[in-house]
Amino acid sequence: MTLTPELEQLAYGAPNYAPLPVVIAEAEGAWVTDVDGRRYLDALSGYSALNFGHRHPALISAVEAQLHRVTLTSRAFTHDQFDDFCRELAELCGMEMVLPMNTGAEGVETAIKVARRWGYTVKGVPDGRARIITFAENFHGRTTTIVGFSTDQTAREGFGPFTRGFTTVPYADADALAAAIDEDTVAVLIEPVQGEAGVVVPPDGYLTRVREICDHAGVLMIADEIQSGLGRTGRTFAVDHEGVVPDMFILGKALGGGILPVSAVVSRRDILGVLTPGSHGSTFGGNPLACAVAREVIALLETGEYQRNAARMGDRLAQGLAQLPASQVAAVRVRGLWAGLDIRDRTARSVCERLLELGVLAKDTHGSTIRIGPPLTVTADEVDLLIDRLTAALATAG
Ligand SMILES: *Cc1c(COP(=O)(O)O)cnc(C)c1O
Repeated sequence: MTLTPELEQLAYGAPNYAPLPVVIAEAEGAWVTDVDGRRYLDALSGYSALNFGHRHPALISAVEAQLHRVTLTSRAFTHDQFDDFCRELAELCGMEMVLPMNTGAEGVETAIKVARRWGYTVKGVPDGRARIITFAENFHGRTTTIVGFSTDQTAREGFGPFTRGFTTVPYADADALAAAIDEDTVAVLIEPVQGEAGVVVPPDGYLTRVREICDHAGVLMIADEIQSGLGRTGRTFAVDHEGVVPDMFILGKALGGGILPVSAVVSRRDILGVLTPGSHGSTFGGNPLACAVAREVIALLETGEYQRNAARMGDRLAQGLAQLPASQVAAVRVRGLWAGLDIRDRTARSVCERLLELGVLAKDTHGSTIRIGPPLTVTADEVDLLIDRLTAALATAG
């Protein structure tokens, strides 16, 4: 590969990513501009971190206003954004308590710790035996504990030894889940739609079954909605499609408005209340700037406008994707404004490279799948343009 001068500079960055060859200088809404002034439609949205598009004016104003007040206190003290943020997020989720962290992986780690402590102190699991069920093809982040229960060899190889206490079962197989649960099981950690796996949508009724199985066994249902939540699927949460209420939500990505890393575990009092001062924490978690931006994210979602547009534009996207030639596309999965396309006969990467030349940013996952997730603010014309460019890229990619 020949590197442009801009890309050459990236050689100082550790090689844990293989970015597409574009160097972004500016962005607004659903569009980014590269260092040469070329514009691209952003059909990835930072893996749902940019659900409201780049630099949404209301989010920028909220951050700017807070920058002039106070940005960080640590949790040694409290600040005037904290209680409002927790209450507003709890209300959005129909829950009672919020524990803010920064990255998604920290949110997942937090949920694991809370579920284990709940298991020991409430459920009565003997010390050291708590077990959490996870699913094949899951993606929950990159810490050593989390990659330990990944089924993706690339994510695990060379990083052991791993944390014990996790059992993996096939996704979308309720009987396998029920069979794996025993008296030491404290939680089921599930993505209501598996994003990284290629936008894998479980069959209707599956999440309801998971809820029933958890209720029956006295096990917490933890919904990792870091990528699927906050409007992406056309509803506030992906579990809303089945009217399922988990015991814990893990949120991240879009919660920070594409500006700051903000994550949270949102749950009930009887669950998050198992924590005691000093048992968990984060220097930056729940900082004033993060709370200010997240409060504006919550306010945007409370209008329902973004969920509605995601549902409408998602239908349009689904119709467009259904027209792509079956000779080139083996399968299409769509939930709201989120789609996975399985490409035949060539790598998804080669199609993404062609899309880039045609002015659209999208990213491959697992070799043969393209993930499409434009900002929830996308217009009908932009969806049509995306379909048009996808059609062209499929017709011409190497
Ligand atoms: C991105 C993601 C994470 C990890 O979030 P980070 O902020 O990258 O740590 C966890 N779970 C899901 C479902 C995700 O999509």
